[in-house]
Amino acid sequence: MPKILATGGAGFIGSHVVLELLNSGYEVVVFDNLSNSSVKSIERVGRMSNGAPVFIEGDIRDGAALDALFEAHDIAAVIHLAGLKAVGESVSHPERYYDVNVAGSTCLFNAMLRHGVKHGVFSSSATVYGEPAPETMPMDEHVPTGPVNPYGKTKLMVEQILTDITSVGPGWRSLVLRYFNPVGAHTSGQIGEDPLGFPDNLFPFIAQVATGRRKILNIFGDDYDTPDGTAIRDYIHVMDLARGHVKAIDYLLGSKAVDNETPVVNLGTGHGASVKDVHAAWEAACGFKIAAQVAPRRAGDVTIYCADATKAKEMLGWEAEFDLAKMCEDHWRWQAANPEGYR
Ligand code: NAD
Ligand code: UDP
Repeated sequence: MPKILATGGAGFIGSHVVLELLNSGYEVVVFDNLSNSSVKSIERVGRMSNGAPVFIEGDIRDGAALDALFEAHDIAAVIHLAGLKAVGESVSHPERYYDVNVAGSTCLFNAMLRHGVKHGVFSSSATVYGEPAPETMPMDEHVPTGPVNPYGKTKLMVEQILTDITSVGPGWRSLVLRYFNPVGAHTSGQIGEDPLGFPDNLFPFIAQVATGRRKILNIFGDDYDTPDGTAIRDYIHVMDLARGHVKAIDYLLGSKAVDNETPVVNLGTGHGASVKDVHAAWEAACGFKIAAQVAPRRAGDVTIYCADATKAKEMLGWEAEFDLAKMCEDHWRWQAANPEGYR
């Protein structure tokens, strides 16, 4: 079976993608500098799957390390997940984001060009849509982009760089996947999200309140123009997302993909859940009360963000299967079994 390179494959989404690729029969090489992950995720994936992935510790800004990798392995396609992803840090340290996300991706694409590796899937984010009006929900891929922070800008830049390289590279085919809000964990509870430091996002924060590591969930704003007043997002189970990547690779290596094109595809469920919906679903999953209080709105938050995922269904034959209850149950199973993550 073809060999797939997963940059950032030791991370939250990457580890689930690698597992799903292995279980679909692909061989996988993981390239990760472990700056935001642990090699334990890869060891566990190896134990859970049909065949262990090859792990290479390295940085996507290191062209020589990438050359060595491409010389040693006959890579059919690259899934490029490696990068920095904290919106707040991208505002205070934009230089890190332009260096790792933009310069790092360019270094990777140059190495692919040097070694004739012509198929790439890029992990982008719905954040590239910026702050679209609530009337545009659910958003399809035609909604104009307009990222409002350096993180989102770097994601859009890399989309454009990959699109331009693909448009002229003989035999090149790529895909951009725009994820909505990935949450949950593998049903085994063996792998999951392991944020270093303070968790900014809703699911990891609730998970830490549930284990007693944090005292109370702050619900950021209950005066939004939504049925219960709290903001709405399109949460997607990470295993659904992982399956979407396998479909993306199947598509790129199959007969339907078109040379020199880089389709953009939303990966979301198409259904929104409010912060209060999520809190209630977590309480149901845990079977106990989770302390919460209403707090002021968080700067930069939008009222509603929700995907129109029709294109993913039509082009890739993919649609999300798991609902909010399953996302909370699986996330909780992982957190309860690993209260300190991989540490
Ligand atoms: P993560 O931090 O868990 O995974 C990223 C991985 O990349 C980590 O294992 C990290 O060690 C590695 N990495 C970082 N810099 C590197 C470098 N210079 N060289 C090699 N490896 C490096 O994050 P994640 O949530 O799994 O996100 C994966 C991708 O998906 C990222 O590109 C992110 O921007 C994108 N994304 C994530 C979300 C989300 O909510 N989690 C949403 C949309 C898009
Ligand atoms: N949120 C919240 N309390 C928290 C973290 C997040 O109320 O401790 C809200 C946040 O304001 C947003 C939603 O939960 O409306 C999802 O936030 P997250 O940071 O997970 O995702 P994003 O903002 O990137 O969509």
